[in-house]
Amino acid sequence: TETLLKVENLKKFFPIHGGLFGRQVGEVKAVDDISFYIKKGETLGLVGESGCGKSTTGRMLLRLLEPTQGTIEFDGQDLTKLSKEEMRKMRKEIQMVFQDPFASLNPRHTVEKILEEPLIVHGVKSKEERKKRVRELLETVGLSNWHAKRYPHQFSGGQRQRIGIARALAVHPKLIVADEPVSALDVSIQAQVLNLLQDLQKEFGLTYLFIAHDLGVVRHISDRVGVMYLGQMMELADSEALYDSPKHPYTEALLSAVPIPDVHVKKERIVLKGDVPSPANPPTGCPFHLRCPKVMGNCASVRPVFKEVEPGHYAACHLYDEQM
Ligand code: SF4
Ligand code: MG
Repeated sequence: TETLLKVENLKKFFPIHGGLFGRQVGEVKAVDDISFYIKKGETLGLVGESGCGKSTTGRMLLRLLEPTQGTIEFDGQDLTKLSKEEMRKMRKEIQMVFQDPFASLNPRHTVEKILEEPLIVHGVKSKEERKKRVRELLETVGLSNWHAKRYPHQFSGGQRQRIGIARALAVHPKLIVADEPVSALDVSIQAQVLNLLQDLQKEFGLTYLFIAHDLGVVRHISDRVGVMYLGQMMELADSEALYDSPKHPYTEALLSAVPIPDVHVKKERIVLKGDVPSPANPPTGCPFHLRCPKVMGNCASVRPVFKEVEPGHYAACHLYDEQM
């Protein structure tokens, strides 16, 4: 299959201002040199604790945030090179579904108006046509046309997320960046929304970047999974390989903390010491070295290279350095 998205050496640094005159006194390396690709029709799960840079990564793909450095090749075009106007048109192809469906829907607009908006922005001029598309979209996400005249507060959390998904689908995107789309929902509702996303993927050949803070959530929906820590990619592999034989000590620790029923390796719970360090003052060397149960010689001083340690299985860890 073709590659739809190829991200290389992507960085996002935010300046920190301080002092009397608001001078820049430092920077937060929210995303620090990550690379990955997503094939057409595939789901890549992107996992990590809050502040690891996964949402920042997702937002850069739509250029809702401007990358500090790196390339984002989508369908053969480097998005970082597009003008604002070209990028506005490109948003037809890449859409986002947000964590909090309530905050992302205008409370004063009816569902019909919410779903018509992207159609208007992307040039569907006929009112008739838009109404027809709204009906179609509501049906596609399991709602009905009589919902069209209602307001967001009249819906449950799960229904609101369906509306958020319908809005993302309105202009027939190829890639959907879903940023923790089920984290705010009850567990019983989560499965329904995940199933819907999977059905839509099959029906429309969609490609997903699925962001989550928990390895359990992305297990079934992802073809491959990437694990981030403090702005860096720690491990990336086929789902099965990642869950059954993780290579990176951080992934091992995350997996040991999440009960995932059909993961074969049964490990003891690995309790990490300390908290995630501040991204404004990240550790030298391997970003995980202060908490890593397997920390050794050069972990504190040398950043490990993110490299292929088995076919299709990538990790950034000195455990996989060539023996001298
Ligand atoms: Fe642990 Fe060292 Fe590997 Fe980092 S590089 S994960 S500190 S063993
Ligand atoms: Mg987030």
